[in-house]
Amino acid sequence: MSFKDILGQDRAKRILTNSLLRGAVSHAYLFSGPEGVGKRLTAFTFAKALNCSPLETHGDKSPLETHRDKSPLETHRDKPNREGDSCDRCLSCKKIHALNHPDLNFIEPDDESIKIEAVRKLQSRISLKPYEGKKKVVIIAGAECMTDEAVNAFLKTLEEPPGETVIMLITANQHSLLPTVVSRCQIIKFNALAGDHIKEILIKDYRFNERDASILSSISKGRLGRAVTMDYKAVCKERDEALKLIISSAKGDMEYIFTDSKRLAKKEDLPDFLDIVADLLRDAAAMRGADTDDCIINKDMKEKLREFSDGLHLPFIINMFDAVQKTKFLLKRNANQQLSIETMMLGMGGD
Ligand SMILES: [Zn+2]
Repeated sequence: MSFKDILGQDRAKRILTNSLLRGAVSHAYLFSGPEGVGKRLTAFTFAKALNCSPLETHGDKSPLETHRDKSPLETHRDKPNREGDSCDRCLSCKKIHALNHPDLNFIEPDDESIKIEAVRKLQSRISLKPYEGKKKVVIIAGAECMTDEAVNAFLKTLEEPPGETVIMLITANQHSLLPTVVSRCQIIKFNALAGDHIKEILIKDYRFNERDASILSSISKGRLGRAVTMDYKAVCKERDEALKLIISSAKGDMEYIFTDSKRLAKKEDLPDFLDIVADLLRDAAAMRGADTDDCIINKDMKEKLREFSDGLHLPFIINMFDAVQKTKFLLKRNANQQLSIETMMLGMGGD
């Protein structure tokens, strides 16, 4: 993948491309933005572009270079990248793609954290000159998962990285990073992708049909990573279940509330399920309040949502939405799942 193939994130791509063209690359970047919007892909593409070494034609080489015993990769060291992009075809690009370039150092959380051992190993690797590339590249995904020890050890590297090193930290949670880390990096913001972009990628790169791509792009709310990993059938099942919950709760169906709360409380992905419930209510409120279905997330469910919201007052639907948000908040603070769900469903009903 080259920058020109990455859809969306135009601002981030422009900053990185310009830095390549001007030969003014920062020593540390922080890629910050929601999960699944292309931060990793952009980081790896930048790593490729930093080390890209397409073979020159004979005429491009100076006589001195042709006589020197150097590998084609080495002859390009220190030259700016004239394309501001990766070619995606040279040996260096291919090695980075396959994660076996000796100058690429990629770290991600192991067991939910990045430990000091990983940082130490990294530091010893980047203390050497680049093996075959122009730059040693460090990519740390989930940078907010570094343990305190790891961050403290890493700060020295971030402050004074060894020569020819470019560090890219990736996070979906910039506010969990220490200000001392953030202030040492050039921050590159990533935004949620437009639904149309996601749909296009799903059809082009993941071979979804038009209908499924359109539904997934709207449910994923700008997170391609989520759209791709979502199991379409499972999502539809969850949504049907979420719809049943809001209908039964609105009616104050006590049998449902006290029976199904037990089952729902056991869901491993309860917060994700509640997100689906909240989205349905948001759509119902939009349809009821704005009398339009242009902006709704679950476009394919508009008939069912209309049926549900017909005859309900907008404040009633908003009250249901608030009950879900409150429950999500309580669950984050480890409230009892079953009790919270029961309370939520009771709170969603009329008086
Ligand atoms: Zn290349």
